[in-house]
Amino acid sequence: MTHRVGLFGGTFDPVHNGHISIAQSFIDSSIIDELWVLLTPFPPHKQEKSTTSYQTRLDMLEVAFSGMEKVKINTVENSLPKPSYSIQTIRHLKKEYPDTTFFYCLGEDSLAKFHTWKFYDKILEECELLVAQRPGVSHDETEDDILSQTHFVSHTPLDISSSDIRSEAKKKTSIREEVPEEVALIIENEQLYS
Ligand code: ATP
Repeated sequence: MTHRVGLFGGTFDPVHNGHISIAQSFIDSSIIDELWVLLTPFPPHKQEKSTTSYQTRLDMLEVAFSGMEKVKINTVENSLPKPSYSIQTIRHLKKEYPDTTFFYCLGEDSLAKFHTWKFYDKILEECELLVAQRPGVSHDETEDDILSQTHFVSHTPLDISSSDIRSEAKKKTSIREEVPEEVALIIENEQLYS
């Protein structure tokens, strides 16, 4: 059997417990052998650019996932042309690792919008999707060609987002329940988002 790798991309500004929990669900599915967390410098779909440096977001990711041996942090998007279209990253990695089978990993809420992604049909030509379930999400608008290439994995989502953490840190509200301790220390020591 080939090596199976899940690709999970994001800005991770900052990484939080919701990301860690969804990563664990992808690993627990046993559909993949490893999960590569892709740190994106400039995501195509986000209006605001990240003000936190790439290196600081990377430092936070590394401490957050240090205890999960099947999770690897991947920085390839930093050396590819921007913005970081997923199709470009997937094609690049497939060329670099021809013996690996890649799965693109998403939350179920993102799946509902996947048909609006640029080149989504090309992504489906390159790999299958691994989608972490989110109760209550409807797939009425999800095309059959997408659903036929989707593996669902069981997951209980945590109601946490990076944008909420940034605004809480700005207001000096505690973020310690939403991020690992080492990430909270970086945010506090570097006075991120304040
Ligand atoms: P922001 O609030 O700045 O938009 P975010 O919290 O959504 O950020 P991203 O770095 O944009 O974080 O997300 C990376 C990936 O993690 C995306 O696929 C996103 O859908 C997923 N994700 C984000 N928050 C959660 C969560 N609480 N549970 C599961 N998946 C999540």
